[in-house]
Amino acid sequence: MQNKEIRLASRPSGVPTLENFKFLETDTQPPGEGEVLVRTLYISVDPYLRGRMRKGRSYIAPFEVGQVIESGAVGEVIESRSDRFKPRDIVTGMFGWRLYNVIDADHLMKVRAGPPATAALGVLGIPGLTAYFGLLDIGQPKEGETVVVSGAAGAVGTTVCQLAKIKGCRVVGLAGHDEKNRYLKEDLGVDATINYREADVRQALKEACPKGIDVYFDNVGGEVSDATLPLLNHGARIVICGQISMYNLDVPDIGLRPQPFLVINSGVMKGFIVTDYVARFGEGIQQLNHWVEEGKLTFTETIVDGFENTPRAFIGLFSGENLGKQIVKVGDPGD
Ligand code: NDP
Repeated sequence: MQNKEIRLASRPSGVPTLENFKFLETDTQPPGEGEVLVRTLYISVDPYLRGRMRKGRSYIAPFEVGQVIESGAVGEVIESRSDRFKPRDIVTGMFGWRLYNVIDADHLMKVRAGPPATAALGVLGIPGLTAYFGLLDIGQPKEGETVVVSGAAGAVGTTVCQLAKIKGCRVVGLAGHDEKNRYLKEDLGVDATINYREADVRQALKEACPKGIDVYFDNVGGEVSDATLPLLNHGARIVICGQISMYNLDVPDIGLRPQPFLVINSGVMKGFIVTDYVARFGEGIQQLNHWVEEGKLTFTETIVDGFENTPRAFIGLFSGENLGKQIVKVGDPGD
């Protein structure tokens, strides 16, 4: 079977461009003992992949130039040499950006029947778990508190906003497009929103948070996050989930130093990587799925069609082309 794959052609400088990616045609290898041949159906493109395109120490090894990019994906089993899977099973795991991948069966999971398979890449996958553990374990929101969420209209952010509402909080979301903010308010019940690209964020936050900020869930960093610091309440919790505004910078942006604000408010700032919670993923998925079934937690996706558009969909994350989870559709099951 003719295969196609996408490799890192060069390390990006600034916002990635299509030239940083290279398409190749290759042959599909048969699976070995304990392996499964999987046809890709949906690819998740994620901001953290930008970090893997950079050299240097991080929580996960960088991609080498010439290496096939990999990310979370959903696929259909074509051929199995494992007794855990059979042809036509829909599975999820880390896939190379290829039409077909041979994957160790131990690295795959069956996709839960019921919700659309793409939910395994969003609300019932890594972004949902990130929101769940980041907000509930680190943020510990309490009824009546004010929770501010940056990157509020993305995959993680939309889930955080809804979980904070489930916990009875006043939720203030920041996103860079008016139609995203409309979605947050009208569809997700977010109490106040700010278009950080247009507003005076400091002033707008002051107005949106008359009782100050108890929890700040930070997806973006930079000036948006600086603007939250003067509004922190006593005992505030800052959850450092992501810093997308800085992912394309070659020189880190220092900004306002947070320590004085933490001292005077006895505040806590904690970063995390969702895999810190791997032992509790089962609990997280079960609870998220329960809320989805109850209709308390909803989700939206931006789906770009065609494997060849995977790099473009990834690059689009940095100009906010997605509402909710950004996914690339490669094929339908049973094609
Ligand atoms: P999103 O779906 O939120 O997509 C990225 C969004 O970021 C865009 O839609 C855009 O929305 C916003 N954005 C892009 N550039 C900027 C900028 N310069 N300043 C402010 N906002 C910007 O992605 P995810 O939900 O997958 O991820 C959200 C964050 O969570 C990321 O920082 C990611 O790295 C992090 N993350 C962390 C994990 C962890 O384990 N700690 C796990 C998963 C994700 P807009 O239109 O509003 O600008």
